[in-house]
Amino acid sequence: MRIAIGGLYQESHSFSPAPADRGAFEGGSLLYGRDLIEELAGLNHEIGGALSAAVDHEAIPLLYAATGASGMPVRQSVLEEFVGDFLQRLSASLPVDGVYLAMHGATAGEHLDDPTGHLFSRLRELVGPDVPIVASLDLHANVTKEMVDASDALVGYHTAPHIDQGDSGARAMRALIQAMEGTRLSTALRQIPMVVPGENGRTTEGPYAGVMDQAIELEDEEGIVSASVFCVQPWLDLPEMGCSTVVVTQNDPERAQREADRLAEMLWSRRRDFTPHLVSADDGIDRALADTAGPYVFSDAADAPSSGAPGDSTVLIDAFLRRGLQETVLLNILDPDAVSSATAVGVGNRAVFTLGASLSNTFYGPVTFDARVRTLFDGSFRFKGPAFKGVEFHMGRTAVLVSRGLHLVVMEQPILQWDPELYRCVGLDPADAKIVVAKSPAAFRAGYEPFAAQILNIDCPGVCSPNLKSFPWKRAGRPLFPLDDDASFVVT
Ligand SMILES: [Zn+2]
Repeated sequence: MRIAIGGLYQESHSFSPAPADRGAFEGGSLLYGRDLIEELAGLNHEIGGALSAAVDHEAIPLLYAATGASGMPVRQSVLEEFVGDFLQRLSASLPVDGVYLAMHGATAGEHLDDPTGHLFSRLRELVGPDVPIVASLDLHANVTKEMVDASDALVGYHTAPHIDQGDSGARAMRALIQAMEGTRLSTALRQIPMVVPGENGRTTEGPYAGVMDQAIELEDEEGIVSASVFCVQPWLDLPEMGCSTVVVTQNDPERAQREADRLAEMLWSRRRDFTPHLVSADDGIDRALADTAGPYVFSDAADAPSSGAPGDSTVLIDAFLRRGLQETVLLNILDPDAVSSATAVGVGNRAVFTLGASLSNTFYGPVTFDARVRTLFDGSFRFKGPAFKGVEFHMGRTAVLVSRGLHLVVMEQPILQWDPELYRCVGLDPADAKIVVAKSPAAFRAGYEPFAAQILNIDCPGVCSPNLKSFPWKRAGRPLFPLDDDASFVVT
């Protein structure tokens, strides 16, 4: 049978400063027609997994547009181009027997709350009610009623950190093939009035793990096609915003709803266990100074590039400068102009630098820093693990500026902050410092725990703060936990 394949993958962030333009996708993946298959077949990617599960069928590649670098709503013109392209390519490929889409599911548009549901509806109009449409979704998807109504089944990742992209695509493709072969799929959604920050959102341990284990067990039962628990990306200020569960059965809508409700109630009952313990910057500094051991690792999740933050926060630099620390402190910031200035100043020379808030200035402003240029570096280095062990990363031209104990790594490009090699590659040893900053909510722990005396989640304002009450929410449906502590959830 003929299966149309495509996807749109972008995680949006309502409180990020400017919409994502076409360049964000050009810097990620923009694959048309056969390129989509040639690039993604055989990879641990949703489309790679879907293709491997559909070897007996004919794949009709449409378009795959993805970006991992942008955390912003997508420009309307870009969405219109992509949706138009999907429709045109599918229209030219008809008839097809099924449609598979690899989506993120937490994409928001500049003027469109739910581009995912919108795309499904437009494709549905084109293929009619009898051609099944099945999509895979990231575990941080914001699942809407339109997505469920316009598709036959939705299949979510089972892992955070995400490692089952290929498996999710294969699960979605197997559901689609069942539907194409005549099985009627019943999909039930239960939306839950809660959002959770990422600190305790792993599926390997903590409050999420037990719920996800139940979903995976359920999927093994006869008659169950798929079970998903979506822990939504928490910075979407949209009316239909929240965690959700989706269960797909073979033609048993009551059972699908019953199981979706059971998983939803389980997640809701654990909602308070997701709250991270946050410490103010001053309290964190006091604790580090009072302890003879070190280093203290400060997690600044609010400025985590892996969550969509720009990496240009000055909140902690400001706190350290105010305290006039003599002890060794390592931190980093994105500021391409400051790197150029440092390059012009030259190694060994001093200057007054104006730093930070170069991409976003909603939560903080630039700081001035009278410092010596200690090191200039090309910014390419390899992670030493455990995550991405051996993989080369690039932070662009990099300068180390030093003032008293404060050692500031200034970079041109945002980078994952999971590996202390970020500091070691410029000759700084985190193990010898009093305080080290990692801009990451959780994944940095594997790299830093072996030598950290303490790890503290610091309560910094910023684009990706886990303190969800600190954002100017306007449109999200209320009550919503934890914004409203008395929010209630009753399955109706
Ligand atoms: Zn995700």
